[in-house]
Amino acid sequence: MKKRNLVTFIQTRTGFLTLLVLLFWIKYIFVAYVDFNLGLSDPYQHIIMWITPLPTAILLIGIGFYFQKPIVSYIAMLVMDFLNTVLLFANVLYYRQFSDFLTVKTILNTGKVAPGLGKSAVALLHPTDIFIWLDLIVVIVLLIMKKIKIDQKSYGLTSSFAITSFGFFLLTLNLFMAESSRPRLLRNTFDRSYVVKYLGLDTYTAYDGIKSAQTVQVNKNANISDLNSILDYTDQNYAKPSKNMFGVEKGKNVIVIHLESFQQFLINLKINGKEVTPFLNSIYKNNHTISFDNFYHQVGLGRTSDAETMLETGTYGISDGSLFTSLGSENTFQAAPQILRQKGYTSAVFHGNVGTFWNRNDVYKNLGYNYFFDQNYYSNARTDKIGYGLKDKLLFSESIKYLQRMQQPFYAKYITVTNHIPFSMDAEDLDPNFKTTNTQDETINNYFQTAHYLDEAVKEFFTYLKKSGLYKNSMIVIYGDHYGLSNSEYQTLAPVIGESADTWNAYNSVQMQKVPFMIHSPNLKGRIDHEVSGEIDVLPTLMHLLGINNKGYVQFGSDLFSPDYKKWIVFRNGTIVSQRYVIIGGKGIKGTVYDRISGKQIINFTPEEKKEIKELSIKAKNSLKYSDLLNNRNLLRFYTPVGFVPTNPNQFDYLTNYQQMLRIENELGKSSTSLFSRNNNKSTTKLYKTDATELKNRLNEINDVPETVRNNQLDDEKSKTSKKETRT
Ligand code: MN
Repeated sequence: MKKRNLVTFIQTRTGFLTLLVLLFWIKYIFVAYVDFNLGLSDPYQHIIMWITPLPTAILLIGIGFYFQKPIVSYIAMLVMDFLNTVLLFANVLYYRQFSDFLTVKTILNTGKVAPGLGKSAVALLHPTDIFIWLDLIVVIVLLIMKKIKIDQKSYGLTSSFAITSFGFFLLTLNLFMAESSRPRLLRNTFDRSYVVKYLGLDTYTAYDGIKSAQTVQVNKNANISDLNSILDYTDQNYAKPSKNMFGVEKGKNVIVIHLESFQQFLINLKINGKEVTPFLNSIYKNNHTISFDNFYHQVGLGRTSDAETMLETGTYGISDGSLFTSLGSENTFQAAPQILRQKGYTSAVFHGNVGTFWNRNDVYKNLGYNYFFDQNYYSNARTDKIGYGLKDKLLFSESIKYLQRMQQPFYAKYITVTNHIPFSMDAEDLDPNFKTTNTQDETINNYFQTAHYLDEAVKEFFTYLKKSGLYKNSMIVIYGDHYGLSNSEYQTLAPVIGESADTWNAYNSVQMQKVPFMIHSPNLKGRIDHEVSGEIDVLPTLMHLLGINNKGYVQFGSDLFSPDYKKWIVFRNGTIVSQRYVIIGGKGIKGTVYDRISGKQIINFTPEEKKEIKELSIKAKNSLKYSDLLNNRNLLRFYTPVGFVPTNPNQFDYLTNYQQMLRIENELGKSSTSLFSRNNNKSTTKLYKTDATELKNRLNEINDVPETVRNNQLDDEKSKTSKKETRT
């Protein structure tokens, strides 16, 4: 009886709709587990993901219900189901190649952006893809064979509306569940796969479409006079280089070490009588390091990506969300890798997380990075990763086989991940000689352990740099990107760092935003600089050290060695730190103001203080305002500094980094400047020593390029082989 009922139900129009929705649902879930890597962790996330394809499938296929004529209605339902399947299938193919989802911009530009995609589409097919199309084929066959008959009954608008309403109800439920599991998902998206995980492929695509339509609208409204006022502002704030420091590091390799979540208070801190970061402490006070002890992070919601935005472009992150994810794919930048390219530099980023995180795989092309070595380039055992990706010791040690192939001078950035909240570590990675704190807050106790681990990782890397000789002609830049411990932890943390929980106030919290910034080079005369400074100042400082004047570039910081250095910084939330003041929230004397040196709150202001604070507030506000105007309206499209060649993002392919480097080495022959070539074509990876327990029995993974990387082919090689194949 039940079976009979089901068969009868499918013969109705509602039944047919339900059938199509259910079949689509099944294949979506199949694809989500088999083809996509959505990073589903807890059961709640699985449940949300199971719901995601339903609302939009009902809404889309339900459109067919609005057609009165039965045959038209059935065809419309099938067409909508077909289109939805095409979107799913296109994403499956795209994901196999790029580990990312299609954006509306990519779909509209497929012809222009990805000529290689069509060529290799056949190679991307898997036998399991039949499941994506099987349901449609079977249903159509059953219709033709009249096993499923077209329901001739007429359905009014009421039932169509009911179906649409039910779809919207499910969509609302889905949005609600997503918000409860991941608050501010859409306002602060840092990875497209998160949006797909929580909202499904259709909703993601719709959201992405709306977002890019908005960008197009904003770009249309972009105004040249806005650009002129920005150029006036940066011209006025230009700080000329110092005579003694300009160009002292000219032509050197630049190695940037991005210390994840690393705060200044860790420097020289002892826990249970032992230094937390003995190696970084030694670099901090080294004779060849210029260290800054009043250097602040200035990130907002974009966190790590905001730090990168400032260091690479000299502009701030945006006021809400991350510039990398919301504007990074479209915007024109004049960034460090591209500026340096014109001085003969090759550039690369080494990072142990997936390439899509913070949209890096797109943004780095627009910044002008030659190579991006994401997690695919390193060992891949389950034990090698924790938290946000490959453990730092493995990242550094396994990067050498690539680093040594880069033409010199190079600009190489290492983004570490192990010291990331919740600061988890595997037991075997703990140093038995270092005992962490015993507070009731596990996050704090863990923080010192991962910071200690990071310190050891950097030490191993330094040892290699010296042994291999790279050290002699490199400038090493070390900085912390932002806080690791936040407001909720300060009360517990206070006694650990010699402060009192009872008197902890906003001033103390501002002091916690200090992060390390050190420039180390055998050339430099070391000292500790006490100037108030921040991440926005790094790019102008580095450019001048490398002998590149930043005049004409739109940058909002200034050279820390310049006689005209501005001596104040502003946080993304408006808080200002100057030589004399800490002005909370940018509200001037109406808010809370502290004396920066004494830490005492200023209650009664002298007329002179009032004037000074007012001027600072205006300057700080304008700095953020012009940076936002520049980035939100993508105004650098209309302006190219003298001597700068705009970036062509399409020239980069991050899947074949290794092959590209080998080819260049080959082509250059004797004039190749890579460390490998200079070392008589011998690898230097054997010089790398690590105590990473994971690699104990797998030391070959330091030396050998993984097979998946070796098997990648350059585009023209690919077409050569396929031509050969067709010929034979
Ligand atoms: Mn970070």
